[in-house]
Amino acid sequence: MSAGATRPVPLLLLLAATAVHCAAARAGSAAVSGNAEWYQLEDFARTDKIDAHVHVHGPAARFMAQAMADNFRILTINVDSPDFPPLAEQQREAVALRAQYPGWVAFAATFSTDGFQSPGWSAAVVRHIDAARAQGAVGVKVWKNIGMVLRDTDGSYVMPDDPRLEPVFAHLEREHIVLLGHQAEPLNCWLPPQKMTVRSDLEYFRGHPQYYMYEHPEMPTHDAILAARDRMLRAHPQLRFDGVHLASLEWDVARVAAFLDAFPQAVVDLAARLVHLEYQAAGDPDKVRRFLIRYQDRILYGSDLGYGPAESSAAEIATLHSDWLNDWRFLTTSEPMHSPDFPAAFHGLRLPRAVIDKIYRDNAEALFHAWPAHAPR
Ligand SMILES: [Zn+2]
Repeated sequence: MSAGATRPVPLLLLLAATAVHCAAARAGSAAVSGNAEWYQLEDFARTDKIDAHVHVHGPAARFMAQAMADNFRILTINVDSPDFPPLAEQQREAVALRAQYPGWVAFAATFSTDGFQSPGWSAAVVRHIDAARAQGAVGVKVWKNIGMVLRDTDGSYVMPDDPRLEPVFAHLEREHIVLLGHQAEPLNCWLPPQKMTVRSDLEYFRGHPQYYMYEHPEMPTHDAILAARDRMLRAHPQLRFDGVHLASLEWDVARVAAFLDAFPQAVVDLAARLVHLEYQAAGDPDKVRRFLIRYQDRILYGSDLGYGPAESSAAEIATLHSDWLNDWRFLTTSEPMHSPDFPAAFHGLRLPRAVIDKIYRDNAEALFHAWPAHAPR
């Protein structure tokens, strides 16, 4: 979960929500309309895809029905967030969901910072991670509370390269377990409201003032948090790292590129940050397109959609579908588009089909080795 997780959807997209569902076609291997080099909008539901960043709680029957109708396998990520159910419950529910939808659901575990000051904390977290792994976890999430919430006894903020986290990250590196890192926030979080680039960030930080760093100059800077993360990554060159939310460098694809160049073991996901690529595409579409093509092996599609524990209404499910479809529209077509997040118009990027397949599926499969028994419908 993060800034900008949910966006309002224009009515037209909701109307499109009933479109294109072809149960016979699968895995991008069946007939694809139009030019084989590119996907079309109507290929959405018949193309096998992975959303590598969702947060699903509860039985989520309606969510899973829509995900399967839209041909999305999912990675649901547990988070040590006060907005989410208790960690033990998140873990139980993720295990249950994976068992109920074999081949469709994978999950990433996380760990609690309770007792961080106590000497046995790191060892207990390592044991917890091994137990989660035995239950099927394919990765471990470290959240923005490291760097922005958790404090040491002297009042200073605990940073990602803290020595007490070190044994945990060393264990992940040794065991080849993926670390999903959400450190810091969009740069907008450190900017005054009138300088924020997208409306969803403005709304998120209005609703979560405790994370609005512009109002908390006493707290760590964006640079300081990411510098600590990068020191940690340099100390663990074999650590398989998924820098979620475009590694919190979303405002400029050149910065994301520099991060990927500096850390060859890292990938990034697009979760809740595609809007920042849309914003940049309004000004310089070629730059954004070149970035996605150049780093096509290192970028994972993710939405950051949250669901549950209560089931959603039909209208909310329609929004879920149209959010997914709209992302596909931006990445696969060259249609003119508008975002509720900013005034400028932009066009879809019309990425080649081979690039889409990697971003939407192959890179996540290669990273997580999950979804082993994905049964054809
Ligand atoms: Zn998230």
